[in-house]
Parts: sequence; structure tokens; C-alpha cells
Amino acid sequence: RAKEGGRNTYQFYLPEMNALALQRLQLQMELRGALERREFLLHYQPKVDLASGRISGFEALLRWQHPVRGLVPPLQFISILEDTGLIIPVGEWVVRTVCEQLAHWQAVGITPRPVAINLSARQFQQCNLDTTIAAILDETGIDPGLLELELTESMLMSNPDDAARMLNTMRAHGVRLSVDDFGTGYSSLAYLKRFPLDALKIDRAFIRDVCTDADDATIALAIINLAHSLKLKVIAEGVESEDQLQFLRAQGCDEMQGYYFAKPLAIADCTRALVEDRRLPRSQPALHAAVG
Ligand code: C2E
Ligand code: MG
Ligand code: MG
Ligand code: MG
Repeated sequence: RAKEGGRNTYQFYLPEMNALALQRLQLQMELRGALERREFLLHYQPKVDLASGRISGFEALLRWQHPVRGLVPPLQFISILEDTGLIIPVGEWVVRTVCEQLAHWQAVGITPRPVAINLSARQFQQCNLDTTIAAILDETGIDPGLLELELTESMLMSNPDDAARMLNTMRAHGVRLSVDDFGTGYSSLAYLKRFPLDALKIDRAFIRDVCTDADDATIALAIINLAHSLKLKVIAEGVESEDQLQFLRAQGCDEMQGYYFAKPLAIADCTRALVEDRRLPRSQPALHAAVG
């Protein structure tokens, strides 16, 4: 059909593009009131400490409970939140919700674990992000060390001076800082050393075939060694099998996160896992056996 010339080509593609653009517009409209309608919620995925076998913390992951579409995963709407600027109020809601949850656990006598939240680039560029977070920490009265912020390499490296300033302020407040999806971006090692970081999270892309692909194994090991030589903890993302667990344990990885241990959990399951706080059996998928 493209042979028939510019006009026809245009007509050929237009409906398809319209459908995509329309769907995005539709989502954008529906997202506008979603915060007020209380349609957002957080799931919490455990991170497991390999030395103790215990839950070392959680990562809070955003979901959108849509009245018709059901539970919408973040990759379908985060970019729209970013484009529209809605990520600012929604991101603040995430910080507040996590801090309130931590305060709630403490109030009912459950020893909380640190909870990590994902920041978006647009949020990180807000020059008052530090005061917003400090105010929420202050209001909820939680130990700032229980809050961890996950940033990506591109957020750090696109403007390293501003990033370092922001991270130093956060660190001064007592918040923990880690680099998410590590290995997929381009980090300057010189800068990495300058940032007050606590942990690197090895991207899932390198973990998937870590037992069978020599290149992935080399990269994973390089990241583990880099992290340790910078005195940072290292966490493997997306661990789904016993083989991956054993391999990463042998290489000295500190913590793991992945479906092998637990999927992101609704808050009730998460609280249950925290209350039970049992040692995870060495060679047996633990949490998903118990809480699905
Ligand atoms: P991420 O921060 O790298 O989060 C890890 C993602 O990997 C989560 O997807 C998690 O469910 C998934 N995952 C964990 N273990 C496994 C595994 O063993 N196998 C596989 N295949 N996947 C696993 P999710 O929840 O769909 O989130 C996707 C991304 O959306 C996150 O990637 C993060 O970049 C972004 N995101 C999530 N919540 C927020 C938020 O509150 N704010 C912002 N700005 N971004 C968020
Ligand atoms: Mg993350
Ligand atoms: Mg990640
Ligand atoms: Mg990611």
C-alpha cells in the first residue's frame, strides 16, 4: 500500500496512531483524578539478606486500581504521570504512604524494615524534593534510616553536581540511597565514588541468564566487586531460581529480591511476613509458599 504514494500511506497509518494517541489521552484523563479518588496503592516486595536469610527491607511499587481496567502495572502509566507532571503529587503520596506505613508498624509493635521507594527523574529535579521529604519524615516521626530512595544512573549522571548536592542533603537527613537497575546506564566511576550511596542494585537483565551466559556472569561479578570496593551493599534484582540464588551467594552478593523469594505483596501479606519474620529456608522458596 505504501507504493501508492504519500497520501495513502498517511491514511494507512493515521487510524493506528490515533488509537494509540487516544488511549494515552484517555489514560491521561483518567489519571488526573486518580489520586483524589484514592485509586493508587503500593505493593511491597521483600528483599532478603543472604547471610541471615531474613527480610532486610522492602521496595514499594506503585499500582493503579482502575475501576474498569483492574490493577494497572506502573510501566503502563508512570511515563504519563511524568509527562503530565502528575508524578510530583503522586510521588509525594508514595513517600507519605510509605512513611505512614512505617509509623503504623511501629505503633502496633512490629519492628519495621527499611522501605525503598523509586524516584522519577522529574521528581529528582525538583529543587525542593529534600524539604518535601524532610517535612514528611518530621510529620510521621519515623526514623529516616527506614526510608531508602532508589535512583537510576541517568538521574545521577545527567547533572552530577546537582545530583550530588541533593544526595548530600538527603544523606544529612539520614535517608538511605541506592542506585536502581545498575549496569544499564553509563556511570562515571569517579562520580559514583563522590555520591553518598548505600547500595547498588544489579539490573534484572544481567540476573536472568547469570547461570548460563558467561557475559552476564562477568558483569554481575564486576558489579558485586565494584560495589564492595566502594563499600556499598549489592542487591540482585529479579532472582527467580535456586540456581541464581546459589550462584549469586557464591559470588558474595549481599541481598536479593525476586519472585523466588516473594512477589510484590499487598500490605496485609507484607505485614504477615514481617510478623512471622522467620528465617527463610536455605534452599526452598519461602514466602510464596506461605503467602502466595
Ligand atoms: P524497578 O524499580 O526496577 O522495580 C522492580 C520491578 O521488577 C518491579 O516491577 C517488580 O515487580 C519486578 N520484579 C521483581 N522481582 C522480579 C522477578 O523475579 N522477575 C521479574 N520478571 N520481575 C520482577 P513493577 O512493579 O512492574 O515496576 C516496574 C517499574 O516501575 C519499577 O522498576 C520502577 O522503575 C517503576 N516504579 C514502580 N513504582 C514506582 C513509583 O512509585 N514511582 C516511580 N517513579 N516509579 C515506580
Ligand atoms: Mg526500584
Ligand atoms: Mg530495578
Ligand atoms: Mg526499573
